[in-house]
Amino acid sequence: MSATIIDGKAVARDIQLQLAEDVRSLARDRGVVPGLAVILVGDDPASRVYVNNKRRMCEKLGMYSEEHLLPAATPREEITNLIKRLNADDRIHGILVQLPLPDRLDERAVLEAVDPSKDVDGFHPVNMGRLVMGSPVFVPCTPAGIMELIRRTGIDLAGKRATVVGRSNIVGKPVSLLLLAQHATVTICHSRTVDLVGVCREADILVVAAGRARLIGRDHVKPGAVVIDVGINREPSGLVGDVDFDEVREVAGYLTPVPGGVGPMTIAMLMKNTILAARRFAYCEHP
Ligand code: NAD
Repeated sequence: MSATIIDGKAVARDIQLQLAEDVRSLARDRGVVPGLAVILVGDDPASRVYVNNKRRMCEKLGMYSEEHLLPAATPREEITNLIKRLNADDRIHGILVQLPLPDRLDERAVLEAVDPSKDVDGFHPVNMGRLVMGSPVFVPCTPAGIMELIRRTGIDLAGKRATVVGRSNIVGKPVSLLLLAQHATVTICHSRTVDLVGVCREADILVVAAGRARLIGRDHVKPGAVVIDVGINREPSGLVGDVDFDEVREVAGYLTPVPGGVGPMTIAMLMKNTILAARRFAYCEHP
């Protein structure tokens, strides 16, 4: 058996077509053009690439975008003052602080300065709290993308065993809550989990976000399982995921590639959240 490879690029393209239409209708019906502001502190090359990709996607979809590129030494107060200005700016519906921030900055304090109604990354405690309580507004983008890829397999999650490897605030925890909301029975693994192979092997749905190249091999995977590889690891040969693709494709039912799986979905979901924020602004649906 060989797994069906889930083409994240194709799904993301499909979503973009719908989003471009949503942007047009919002402009036509309410005169509102969704606007995204991205703040990058420092000059991390990978972050620079991500910021450029976001700007290009905004242009492609007919959205407004602003980039705020700040030197690595920018004081926290200057960053939070910029966020306050953007919170009050009606052209801006989504504010994204590119992570990681330089170590000296208190990431939590910076993220909490973003108005929850413009928090299109979904990392503000208000939006995280809504997610925990089962009534999310802005779902974090990578977890939202993962759920969309799983949805498109057509598999009903109710009663299924789901295992998530990784417990970060940006991927592992939120995706676990989303799987739970779809009535899966969810287990979260992390670096201190004993018998990772045994726990993973029970999973009908296996989501891996550990940041360890080829952590998951054939033995970790139940035959026929849906395997979603979130990992992005840079090796001399190029990007590789957390899943050993060649081994696991022989066992899994569905498998996402790296690159071309979860990655393209993340940016599509960011645009979707920004358009949602603009709609809520246009139709006065703020909380
Ligand atoms: P993180 O470093 O914050 O968290 C990693 C988690 O994996 C931790 O909870 C840790 O306990 C767990 N872990 C580490 N080693 C483990 C092991 N040997 N066994 C079991 N668990 C282990 O990482 P993150 O920010 O959640 O990102 C995870 C990966 O996903 C990274 O490779 C990152 O680049 C990638 N990522 C991709 C996207 C995307 O758009 N495709 C978005 C975000 C993150």
